[in-house]
Amino acid sequence: MEPEAQRKQEEWGLHEECGVFGIWDSKGGCAQTTYYGLYALQHRGQEACGIAAMNNREQSCYKDVGLVSEVFDRERLERLNGTMAVGHVRYATTGAGERENAQPLTIKYVKGTLAVVHNGNLVGVDKLRREFEYKGAIFHTSSDSELIAYAIAQERLHCGSVEEAVCRAASKLKGAFSLLVMSPEKLIACRDPWGFRPLCMGRKGEAVLFASESCAIEAVGGQVERELDPGEIVVVREGKVTSIRDNCRGLSHMCIFEYIYFARPDSVIAGQSVHRARMNAGRLLARQKPVEADLVVGVPDSGLDAARGYALESGIPLGMGFVKNRYVGRTFITPDQSSREQAVRIKLSALRSEVEGKRVVMVDDSIVRGTTCSQIINLLREAGATQVHMRVSAPPFISPCYFGTDIPDKEKLIACHHSLEEIEAMTGADSLEYLSIANLRHLAPDAKCGFCEGCFTEHYPISVEE
Ligand code: SF4
Repeated sequence: MEPEAQRKQEEWGLHEECGVFGIWDSKGGCAQTTYYGLYALQHRGQEACGIAAMNNREQSCYKDVGLVSEVFDRERLERLNGTMAVGHVRYATTGAGERENAQPLTIKYVKGTLAVVHNGNLVGVDKLRREFEYKGAIFHTSSDSELIAYAIAQERLHCGSVEEAVCRAASKLKGAFSLLVMSPEKLIACRDPWGFRPLCMGRKGEAVLFASESCAIEAVGGQVERELDPGEIVVVREGKVTSIRDNCRGLSHMCIFEYIYFARPDSVIAGQSVHRARMNAGRLLARQKPVEADLVVGVPDSGLDAARGYALESGIPLGMGFVKNRYVGRTFITPDQSSREQAVRIKLSALRSEVEGKRVVMVDDSIVRGTTCSQIINLLREAGATQVHMRVSAPPFISPCYFGTDIPDKEKLIACHHSLEEIEAMTGADSLEYLSIANLRHLAPDAKCGFCEGCFTEHYPISVEE
């Protein structure tokens, strides 16, 4: 991980690389709808965003670094009008904040134009890039999306349709990719054969919508129809929807961390409510490691639902332990190491009136390096908590992610080098418990999919040796 990305991760927690949204609507106004859809997906990436639209086979695109609210205004959106659009929000782990790595990735080639948006990470990407470069490719960015666009364009030269080209390219790529591809006539959604990242489809009247999460389809007034199956390709042309299943191999490895941390609680992934999955994690933790305490609090935001589950299961009252400063954003500057603690204090403060004199169970979603966690525990102690029992709604991270989450290398993961007791002492918690692997497998009972849990078990659904 590059230093800038590492600094951001330390200050702001884990991130995933992206959210995608796409729409076909004969009535037009697709860029506007995409703009609202991206707003609903902003939690998946705050570094850069962009929208490409198609109007009478003319493609237009605008993208830049910044939040959706910063990058787009009325004038820019009006210039993007069309009957199809794809949009993207990006969190960069490499090439952080670079304008050229913002998406959509647009290309012009002998068969026309393509706009590609992508969520996930390819595996073996250096080898693939070299292969293409030896065949004469010149890449302008370091993003996987450009490789994918190039692979599709190459295939398109040897087959009869863009959807066939997407299918052929997808069958050769390895890793996580939930893609939307827009050609002059078609909007194509494609999910990798392992199904690492979510991608769902919805309708709003005759309009067809695609989004990384169901919350974005609902935010624009649409109804979610279904999730794409792993390996499936869905093609929309003039409102007619067809499905290609050549790459569906019966595999299913959804990132389990989507439920614990990434996705919005109001989203439903593979039939499982994210909110309920987090509540379940809290309930399971309460059964796994009960403790005598006066109050349960969650660390905002993704610890809140798990804290509620812990409280319901244990019978210990749920309280509001922290106030989060919602105005601290992407541009917040922390110039040196010594100000890291200050950064946590600016982001979060403990509510003295709630925690003073109490034995507190504090629920959070993960511990990466352990530094932020000990600072948050310290906030509770300073506010008068007599005991702080830390409960983590995920198992310990013991290995990096190769599929789009910026979990650092093993040397920086606290659980790779210290026992539970040591981490307990280092963080200053009176007791510490992580969700067990056995319970991890029970947090999403309604999910109609299998899971990737590689960062917790070191067993990945595909070989990551490259
Ligand atoms: S390795 Fe972890 S974060 Fe990455 S896809 Fe698998 S479960 Fe998700």
